Amino acid sequence: MKKYIITFLFAAVLLIAGCSGDKGDGKDAKASDDKLQVVTTYSVLYDIVKNVAGDLAEVHSLVPIGTDPHSYDPLPDDVQLTTDADIVFYNGFNLETGNSWFQNMIETAGKSEEDATVFRITKGIDPQLLKSGGHKGEPDPHAWLAVENGIKYAENARDALIKIDPDNKEKYEQNATKYIKKLEALEKEIEKKVAEIPEEKRVLVTSEGAFKYFSAAYGFHAAYIWEINAENEGTPDQIKSVVDLIKEKDIPGLFVETSVDPRSMETVSNETGVPIVGKIFTDSLGKQGEDGDTYIKMIEWNVDMITKGLTE
Ligand SMILES: [Zn+2]
Repeated sequence: MKKYIITFLFAAVLLIAGCSGDKGDGKDAKASDDKLQVVTTYSVLYDIVKNVAGDLAEVHSLVPIGTDPHSYDPLPDDVQLTTDADIVFYNGFNLETGNSWFQNMIETAGKSEEDATVFRITKGIDPQLLKSGGHKGEPDPHAWLAVENGIKYAENARDALIKIDPDNKEKYEQNATKYIKKLEALEKEIEKKVAEIPEEKRVLVTSEGAFKYFSAAYGFHAAYIWEINAENEGTPDQIKSVVDLIKEKDIPGLFVETSVDPRSMETVSNETGVPIVGKIFTDSLGKQGEDGDTYIKMIEWNVDMITKGLTE
């Protein structure tokens, strides 16, 4: 008899817990929302995926705007969102590997690539390789800075969303087609602007070597203080070698990224007398309502800044 009472009590507790969860902090109510729950690791992916998902999904981004996605300490909310997500998009190519934060988090959240709940958006892209440091010979992450790859990200997002939500195939296709048209127009705009910069002036000096894909796509030479964030950033040796390079060439301006500490580039500027001519976006969008707050706007901003900085 006692056993039955205990079983009954246990069932009652479960029932009450279930009910209160629904009306509690709204988390369960959100999970039962019929919208697809999508998580992206950082703001650039958020914007691309959001454009493809449209109003069919609730898209969340983990690493805050203006913060470096190479290394990150996920908050309890991030783990919860990832656990509740129908699909999690990440960049891969060594972006989210800094402190293994992403790998650890998806393990905690019980997600994996095998069941299509985790998707690497750089799939099918030809990688540019890292030339130094612990990940030498492996892919460099910053593929999105060349718009041809941004288009591939959008296509991949479309295909991954269709795979987990096939009922809305047509809508995802429409959204993607519309967005990709805008990206193709952006690509033409970039080619036109870059043509204004004399070829010998197309040297892009940034703190992190984030412009490999951009440089290959639009005919620049990329120089940097350190190759990838989360490795040694701004050591005296690194500063010396970029200072020597700048002294050899006739470089009109240096650039500093919005998501890195500007002090190393300020040192380089002081030691060479070459001014920092602008801030550019690499690993993060701008804050909502400010410059560069979408993928298209961040690229437009960069290209404007680079064109002005290297021609004026
Ligand atoms: Zn980076």
